[in-house]
Amino acid sequence: MMREDFPILQKVIYGKYPLVYLDNAATTQKPRCVVDAMTEEYFNVNANVHRGVHFLSQQATDLHEASRETVRKFINAGKTSEIIFTRGTTESINLVATCFSDAFMKEGDEVIVSEMEHHSNIVSWQIAAQRKGIVLRVIPISDDGVLDIDAYKALFNERTKIVSCTHVSNVLGTVNPAGEIVRIAHEHGVPALIDGAQSTPHFAVDVQDLDCDFFAFSGHKIYGPTGVGVLYGKEEWLEKMPPYMGGGDMIKTVSFEGTTFNDLPYKFEAGTPDYIATTGLAKALDYVSSIGMDNIYRHEQELTEYAMSQLLKIDETVIFGPKDKHDAVISFQVGNIHHLDMGTLLDRLGIAVRTGHHCAEPLMRRLGIEGTCRASFALYNTKDDVDALVNGIRRIRQMF
Ligand code: PMP
Repeated sequence: MMREDFPILQKVIYGKYPLVYLDNAATTQKPRCVVDAMTEEYFNVNANVHRGVHFLSQQATDLHEASRETVRKFINAGKTSEIIFTRGTTESINLVATCFSDAFMKEGDEVIVSEMEHHSNIVSWQIAAQRKGIVLRVIPISDDGVLDIDAYKALFNERTKIVSCTHVSNVLGTVNPAGEIVRIAHEHGVPALIDGAQSTPHFAVDVQDLDCDFFAFSGHKIYGPTGVGVLYGKEEWLEKMPPYMGGGDMIKTVSFEGTTFNDLPYKFEAGTPDYIATTGLAKALDYVSSIGMDNIYRHEQELTEYAMSQLLKIDETVIFGPKDKHDAVISFQVGNIHHLDMGTLLDRLGIAVRTGHHCAEPLMRRLGIEGTCRASFALYNTKDDVDALVNGIRRIRQMF
């Protein structure tokens, strides 16, 4: 599907062609249209946004704000004022952990996260915990990598102030019931943040349908540029939260006696935004929308199921995570071959996978392992890619 749109896939590595790129959960490759749109803006439009009366500044501002509207539509947010541009999922979560805890949490208050979180959704709350004396409570998972919803319900008490949970695990491929997680949080009168870093690239997300209070994702994981991401937040929460950083754009008036802050979303966007990257992100979202998120989902599901069935035919192969509902991420272990050896040898065969703890050390500890080898799929992957992976693993297995 669409391989010709991605110039890097033509690259020959170690004399191997075509490149089998299976590290998409870390970052996706970029279609030409995304890079072209950014180059075009640098060469023909570039000027700082929001503050200029001159032609180029207004044109750049229009493009930047049009990108915000594209993001709004893509996740079906109600208003563009609820779309904050950040540097990525990590910054989006840190923003909420900092500003929400400042506004609404005191010593002894609790945040609920899960055992399968990426470090960005653990450490950001731990930093808030150090500042404010708040406490992290953790939803346990089953051996199959599924959230224990009854245990989740039992974590709530009068000190619970927010839930922050991933939509899809970047290690296990588990698709969490985000709508249910949010609903349960709301039944207890607290808001919920959903980390959408690994969901937005793979299936259609509707933040109003999820009813989540915050939603975070990264541009670079959905065929967009690095350095840009999104925080969606319901206006009612964003209005009550203090700004994250101080600087240009986020103020209305400044004096040494005091400052008034700008309206949403600018209150949370201090300094010159990466307005070229927001153009690239919008182009990427237009690109996947033109293919259709449902088509992307179907294609990747087919590949994932095929890969799981083929991998399980290899003796001594263990796949971590649920057996049924599995997103386009497969973590595996073959016999006692160290994941680093497996990844290094696959690389020599022209197959790029990721190895290690995948920024989820607590999850590794829960699974009783140090790391895994992870293959993750994107819209441009094919059955040939899966066959190359499986044949590569078979060859490596024979060497051990
Ligand atoms: N959450 C999840 C589930 C992720 O997979 C990642 C990236 N691996 C992040 C958060 C952090 O994303 P970024 O590094 O783009 O900020």
